[in-house]
Formats: sequence, C-alpha cells, structure tokens
Amino acid sequence: MLLLDTLTQGLVDLEARGLTRRRRIADTACAAHMTVDGRDIVGFASNDYLGLAAHPALVAAQAEGAQRYGAGSGGSHLLGGHSRAHAKLEDDLAAFAGGFVDAPRALSFCTGYMANLATLTALAGRDATLFSDALNHASLIDGARLSRADVQIYPHGDAEALAAMLDACDSPVKVIVTDSVFSMDGDIAPLAALLALAEQHGAWLVVDDAHGFGVLGPQGRGALAHAALRSPHLVYVCTLGKAAGVAGAAVIAHETVIEWLVQRARPYIFTTAAAPAVAHAVSASLTLIASSEGDARRAHLAALIERTRAILERTPWQPVDSMTAVQPLIIGENEATLALAAKLDAAGLWVPAIRPPTVPVGTSRLRISLSAGHSFDDLARLEAAFDRLGETA
Ligand code: PMP
Repeated sequence: MLLLDTLTQGLVDLEARGLTRRRRIADTACAAHMTVDGRDIVGFASNDYLGLAAHPALVAAQAEGAQRYGAGSGGSHLLGGHSRAHAKLEDDLAAFAGGFVDAPRALSFCTGYMANLATLTALAGRDATLFSDALNHASLIDGARLSRADVQIYPHGDAEALAAMLDACDSPVKVIVTDSVFSMDGDIAPLAALLALAEQHGAWLVVDDAHGFGVLGPQGRGALAHAALRSPHLVYVCTLGKAAGVAGAAVIAHETVIEWLVQRARPYIFTTAAAPAVAHAVSASLTLIASSEGDARRAHLAALIERTRAILERTPWQPVDSMTAVQPLIIGENEATLALAAKLDAAGLWVPAIRPPTVPVGTSRLRISLSAGHSFDDLARLEAAFDRLGETA
C-alpha cells in the first residue's frame, strides 16, 4: 500500500543516516544500577539525579497513595480528578520552591512536556512575541509553536543579542523562555541577565528547571534559588520525574498567573489528572529532597561530577564545560557515536548516543547522566572503558 510504502522508505532513510532510535526494556527502575534487556548494567542514561527513583520511602508512599485514592484519578482536574493529594502537593511545592515570588502558588501537571505547552500557550497569544533560546528543549519549542505568537530564537545563552531583539520589539506581550540547565549540554542559562531584561522590557521570564529542581540551590530548591532571584516576572516550571524520582511537573508563579492557567491552559484543562498516588509520592520526595539525606546526596553528586569532568578531559573527544549532572562528550558523526555507545554497552555501561534532531547536525554525543546512586567504582569502570576506546580512536 502506497501509504505504508512511504513510511517504510522514511524508516529506511533514518536507518541509513544512523538516526533510528531504539527502546530498551528495563526490568528495574531506570537508575544508576539497573537491569536492562536482561543484563545488569551501570546506567548513565537516567535523569534520576538524586538516586530516588527506587527509594523505599517513595515506593511506600506511592503504595499508600494507591491504597487511599485508588489506581487512577478518574477525571480531569476541573471535573472531579483533583484529589487531596494533588492539592497538598501544590501547597508543598509552592512552599518549597516558590520563594522567588510573592503569593506563590503551584499547579501540578502529568508531565513537564504538558506544563511547558500549557505555560507558553496561556501566556503568549497571537499578539505576543516569544523569545526562545536556540537550545531550548523540544517541549518549549512545541509550546512556542502552539502559542501562535511571533517566535524569535536568540543565540544560545546570549543575553546581549536578546537585548537587541527586545529593543526592536513592539509587541504588547513579551515572553522570554529558557531551560535553566540545558538538557543536552549541561550548561546553565544566564538567569540573572535574562531577568534584568525581562524587568526592563516588561516581559515574562519562563524558566524550565527540569534538570535543576532538586539538585541546584539550597536544599535543592532549584535554579532560581541557586541564583537568588526574586521577581513577579518569573514563571517557574519544574519536573518531578527526574531528581524527584517520581513523575509529573508543576508550574509555580504568582497566584494570579496560576489562576490564569487553571482557566485558560488547554493542556491543563483537557486531560485526565495524574494518579493521586503519584502526587502523594512526590510530596514524600520533597521531604527527602529538603532533608539532610538530600544534602548528602547532592554532595555526593557534586563529587561525582568533578571526577567525571577529569575523566572526560583525558579522552580524545570533546567534553562540554558543564558543572551539572549532565556531562556530554561530543563525538561528531552519528555512526561514530553509535559505535562508541555500543562498545561501552558491551562493557556493561549504558551511555546513550544523542543524535539530531535532539542536537545540531555534526554534534552527536555521548551523554553521561550522573546520579547520586553512582559510586566512584562505577566511574572507575567508565574511565577504564574510555581509556581502552581512546587507544583505538
Ligand atoms: N524540559 C526539559 C528541559 C526536559 O529535559 C524535559 C524531559 N526530558 C522536559 C521538559 C519534559 O519533562 P517530562 O519528561 O516530565 O515531560
């Protein structure tokens, strides 16, 4: 059939360009140590930055939540699906990470992808201009497209270039949007400079802290706390399936912004709420993140990051200057990146090969995601594998 032939040809083309993506089947939590495709491996693929995904306290909290509220939410938030667990989680999140604004309120979402679509479409309409960093996450790119605003891409991390673009803009509504920690490079956006511009130009600054929440800042309160920023211009998105170890996301902002989202954000309104048990488990996760155990996990992660940077600098490939748990090693071509990932895999190390369109053409890379669940022995294995691969490179 012609329709299927077209797709089959498309799949063949992807394979020929080294762009086919394959799923692997995990029999355990996707974490620092895991079983995947039937083999025990050291995983450098997860976003389980604090090693909480399989934490007994969170597993117990999720089970307790399911006992109390059932397996599913049963409806959308505005039509019956909003449980006591969701309401408590929102209060907990506003108290934990809302210190950047007066009258903070949080709104919980099933995923960060949806939170980003919701935020951008609700804040930016046809009359708005949306300024987006060139390396922003796909969910921000899609949210910008869906918003129907005029979208202007500024060069990665370049506040000066953004200033010139804002100067030239006469839209009544302006929204600047950025990842805090860039997911494929691990670098941190110049948040203070972006906020200064937002205040100067009467713009919103939406910060997607998917990779900073739980890790950066005092007690893991996130990138805004880390940079000690405070302003009514700030709208903060955090995801809860990475460092928090569970699933979901939240938008935190002044209560008026949140009420606007409740009334207007279609990705919030027209979808079934996450299972209350998930929200219950995230509340337990926030307690852990803020505790001395959380501090110890962040300190261990920081030591692992330092060690990994030293390991990557000694390889023949190009590390990125990243101080976060995302440690990329740029290889260049897709096939070469895949070949290295396969050799690491054979050594029992899962380091994903990241290729276009996730990253620009010619910058395919191995992305090492560190977790507080890793040990220095795990890094010694990684180092030995890179030493062997470097000899034959
Ligand atoms: N923003 C960024 C920067 C991300 O890396 C991700 C997930 N990869 C998301 C948003 C989406 O979050 P979620 O996985 O909860 O949909």
